[in-house]
Amino acid sequence: MAGKDAARVTVLGLGLMGQALAATLAKAGHAVTVWNRTPGKAGDLKTQGVAEAADLTEAITASELVVAVLLNHDSVHDALDSQVGVLEGRTLINLTSTAPSQARELAEWAKTNGIEYLDGGIMAAPHMIGTEISSILYSGSARVHEDYKSVLELWGEAAYFGEDAGMASLWDFSLLSSMYIMFSGFMHGAAMVGASGVTATDYAKRAVPLLSAFIPTIDHLAATVDSGDYTTDVQHLDFTKAAADAIHRTGVEQGVNPAMFEHIKNLIDRHVANGHGAEAFDRIFESFKNPAK
Ligand code: NDP
Repeated sequence: MAGKDAARVTVLGLGLMGQALAATLAKAGHAVTVWNRTPGKAGDLKTQGVAEAADLTEAITASELVVAVLLNHDSVHDALDSQVGVLEGRTLINLTSTAPSQARELAEWAKTNGIEYLDGGIMAAPHMIGTEISSILYSGSARVHEDYKSVLELWGEAAYFGEDAGMASLWDFSLLSSMYIMFSGFMHGAAMVGASGVTATDYAKRAVPLLSAFIPTIDHLAATVDSGDYTTDVQHLDFTKAAADAIHRTGVEQGVNPAMFEHIKNLIDRHVANGHGAEAFDRIFESFKNPAK
């Protein structure tokens, strides 16, 4: 290995994710040093040639590149505020999940203290790190992303979203929002049939093909909301309202918590009441964009 490919890397935080990131680097031949607030978590890594630092200062001093993968925004400050002098002149890649505003705050904190900063949002579970289905989103210093790309790509795709350090986590949490709502939708439906004795496993046998068939239509939905033109000659909101009323009624009759579907039904009702019944269901996007609509 040469240049940044041979970088010494320090990983701060040995939760499940920190362990996976450190192990992947060690497997690729990097000299890896780790630190964890609670000592004694480096066991398996040490058999892979990873060095466990005696303390945080020693861990940071060991490498030009420091990767933080701690619990949350507060834990990054808890751990690193006392270390700014040691971090000065080094590169910090923060893969801890933080809100965009918190990532921007950390980027400013880093700049003030002479630390090169790249923020990251991990779109993978620990067991996926280093496989082709792993992706990490980055924003902040373009130079850090470019210089260390070969290191970052060991963990998975290393997508870059610009100098604004908040953009990676904005993408991260926007994508996760879609995912959580999709899974919650499955659970709502499973509870509806579940009240009549159907198992979630049996429900999934029909839900998975149905949802899979519809997922590709998201591209069409995206083009519609980007255009702002909701005219349609197929299923318009008046039609959808009839279906939504029936779905909602069924949920209530089955005794499930109606709140999540009720929110969608209320948006449909509002757009119909506002005279948009002939337009496409996609129009409710306007209410997500602007809650007053
Ligand atoms: P864990 O809960 O397994 O580990 C959390 C780590 O943070 C531990 O090393 C813990 O140390 C440390 N920590 C917590 N508070 C502090 C503090 N105040 N000061 C110093 N260290 C602290 O989490 P993961 O490893 O799974 O996740 C780490 C980050 O990666 C999180 O931000 C998470 O959102 C993100 N992520 C995780 C994914 C996953 O599937 N696991 C997926 C995508 C992102 P100690 O052992 O001493 O408690």
